[in-house]
Amino acid sequence: MASDRDIDSRKQQPSRPARRRFLKTAVASATTVGAAAVPLSGLALDKPTTTLAAANTIPSREFGNTGIRVPIMHLGTSQRLDPQYDKLMHRSFEAGVTWFDTALSYGWGSSHKAIANFLKQIDDRKKLWLTSKSGSGRVSGLRDGIDEALDELGTDYIDLYLMHGINDLDMLDRDYLALGEKLKAQGKTRFFGFSCHDGNVAELLEKAAKVGGIDAILFRYNFRRYGDLELNRAIDACHRAGIAMLAMKTQGSVPRDLESVVGFRSDNFTLGQAKLKSVWADERISSIVSEMDSVKYVRENVAAARSEKSLTAEESHQLNQLAAFTAAYACNGCKHLCESAVAKQVSIADPLRFLMYYECYGKTARARELYRAIPASALAASDRELAQACSVCPQGIDIPTRLRRAREVLA
Ligand code: SF4
Repeated sequence: MASDRDIDSRKQQPSRPARRRFLKTAVASATTVGAAAVPLSGLALDKPTTTLAAANTIPSREFGNTGIRVPIMHLGTSQRLDPQYDKLMHRSFEAGVTWFDTALSYGWGSSHKAIANFLKQIDDRKKLWLTSKSGSGRVSGLRDGIDEALDELGTDYIDLYLMHGINDLDMLDRDYLALGEKLKAQGKTRFFGFSCHDGNVAELLEKAAKVGGIDAILFRYNFRRYGDLELNRAIDACHRAGIAMLAMKTQGSVPRDLESVVGFRSDNFTLGQAKLKSVWADERISSIVSEMDSVKYVRENVAAARSEKSLTAEESHQLNQLAAFTAAYACNGCKHLCESAVAKQVSIADPLRFLMYYECYGKTARARELYRAIPASALAASDRELAQACSVCPQGIDIPTRLRRAREVLA
């Protein structure tokens, strides 16, 4: 027997031929995601409405070499969303952020369902771009994950489907690429790619540029990575190959009291806005994913996206200073360096990332949950082993001290 959601989703979705027509039109002509804006009047942000649409727009850039234009910022939804009516999703959408990024695991598994409800509320699937991810390095997980994602999202296609968190070159193999082609041919996703938080990102990008069949890559990129030659060459290679480059972790966060030492000053931008601007200054980046967990951040980030001002030399200089002064607290995720310097299996980058969630984002419960899921054996390195890891860390992080801090607050 069909569930209520099945019945609702059939009502919401175009038939398969209709969807194919839409895909054909979208790919054949230069399209701007969410451009079919309907003016809004008297927005009531706290109650459901079925007439929402993007009244405003933010600038767009080409999605790789597809001819499709997408907003330069999209909404990350790993936080817990309101399943009935999520104010931040609506507020972002109304402001022109017509692309949401989700994953099977986001919001403790609730993100997809909240977005499904949001799709019903806006009543037009075509006005929202959706990224979803699954797999975590396994092609079988990626294959099964898309059906689960489509079911949970109540839609019959995803715009961009990514393997979640690739950190090994071998994952970009023939099976993975063949699956991408198959899912696109089946109309389950329009575009295909991967996300990578850590590992040797530059090598992954170089390989992705060569193997073909990858439409987009979501990767860690922020003001701290400017001047990284190896990464820049790899981004160039992907850009030349027509791959859409999507930036995440753009804030390069460290605890606020450390950031305040630099005392960022600007007549134009807050520090958070300046960090976004520094990524948009790189025209190879199609879009930034930003988890905006308050209306204040939606307002700030959208204002930055719409601002025609670029960073001044002085503002860029302050960001460079900030990167230099706080490097020892900002883990880049290059765990192929520190973790392989230790003979046994040890986890360094992950606990440091979860510590960042705790210290910078105040996500105590999530950080503890993730930290406690790390096998105890991977957290049991000796001082000598951690000293070896320290010796290869390009950020100069005091790894033993930071891991001790992670244990104190997250164990
Ligand atoms: S601790 Fe250092 S080497 Fe290890 S992942 Fe972080 S930045 Fe890279």
